[in-house]
Amino acid sequence: MIPVLIVLNAGSSSVKFQVFDMPDGAEPRLVWKGLYEGLGGAAHFVVKHAGGANLDEISWASGEDFGHEEALMHLVSWLRQHQEGRRLAAIGHRVVHGGEAFSAPVLVDDGVIQTLDALVPLAPLHQPHNLEPIRIVRRRLPGMPQVACFDTAFHQTQSGIARMFALPREMRERGVKRYGFHGLSYDYISSVLKDYDPRLAEGRVVVAHLGNGASLCALDKGVSIATTMGFSALDGLPMGTRCGAVDAGVVFYMLREMKLSPEEAERVLYTKSGLLGVSGLSNDMRVLRANAATDTDARRAIDLFVYRITREIGSLVAALGGLDGLVFTAGIGENDAATRAEVIAGLAWAGLTLDEAANRAGGPRISAGPGPAAWVVPTNEELVIARQTRGALGAVQAKLAS
Ligand code: ADP
Repeated sequence: MIPVLIVLNAGSSSVKFQVFDMPDGAEPRLVWKGLYEGLGGAAHFVVKHAGGANLDEISWASGEDFGHEEALMHLVSWLRQHQEGRRLAAIGHRVVHGGEAFSAPVLVDDGVIQTLDALVPLAPLHQPHNLEPIRIVRRRLPGMPQVACFDTAFHQTQSGIARMFALPREMRERGVKRYGFHGLSYDYISSVLKDYDPRLAEGRVVVAHLGNGASLCALDKGVSIATTMGFSALDGLPMGTRCGAVDAGVVFYMLREMKLSPEEAERVLYTKSGLLGVSGLSNDMRVLRANAATDTDARRAIDLFVYRITREIGSLVAALGGLDGLVFTAGIGENDAATRAEVIAGLAWAGLTLDEAANRAGGPRISAGPGPAAWVVPTNEELVIARQTRGALGAVQAKLAS
């Protein structure tokens, strides 16, 4: 029997999953990937082969009360029906916040859940949804090994100064500091740099993870030394619906002068800002690009996004003391040639030159000339979770055996 593991990435009304074979000593191998969406309403399940061909699809009517628990139980029974020759060995979870306690993936027990629960106020829109399936599996499949893999952990290599706010010491002691996110994505990019150009793996690289959430990370020899997200996943670049960095005084203005409650202010900053807020049209870059020629607000949203990216790259180049490579990844970074071209145009001062044809073709190398190289590298957070889950299980087994 080949051991397999499920990788879960749970949101408020969706659960993305991937199933990996774990052959002895080799890289985990993707078998199936899929999605439950509309949970709690009219739910829909779709699963595909690793190559992308549809394998199965089911819809539930909105009255059927099909939520996260039903989805997970359905997934396990679907696997049993299709897993011929395979045995479910573990479940790996994406968990946005590991706080100061976890600098590496961890095998979940009740104490771990408690520690992760205490971090909900630091990532109120993500952490509760990430923890929900962990609790469900613990209740419904007791004994199933579960590993939590964190978006924050990759950044623990940063210096104390890079992680610090200029706030009173008591606040730092309470854990108010820069954690950084998208670490699973940066971990993957760091792991494949050598396949694109060994000099990148040994050099100074800025990675631009531009999806619905967006951030930048400065990698020095593959290790995170600075990033744009901070205490929460709100900081740094403007995103699909999140504001990115704003003067903290704006929040006081919202509370005091606009009389918003903390919850209302939070909703504005997380869900009504960013590309959506500026354009008044959409958080989807494809929609903004399609309308940018005629809609000045759509154009403005893109211009602000690109402006902030180029400025923040400048800041990370300073932190790195120079630049050898720039990597674009995630939904916009991998697919939107126009955003890549506009960012690179803003970085001419750093010696970057666009190879227009290569950029239109999607890379992988999209720069020309002798300056720093620019690349398009598709990310794979799920593979990192699979690797980390296997690593954490292996470490526990090794400990038991010794
Ligand atoms: P998430 O953070 O939810 O994982 P993704 O990495 O999937 O997000 O990125 C979503 C973003 O990628 C959206 O803004 C979407 O418009 C953009 N995107 C996806 N495909 C394209 C494309 N072909 N051209 C431009 N933008 C795209």
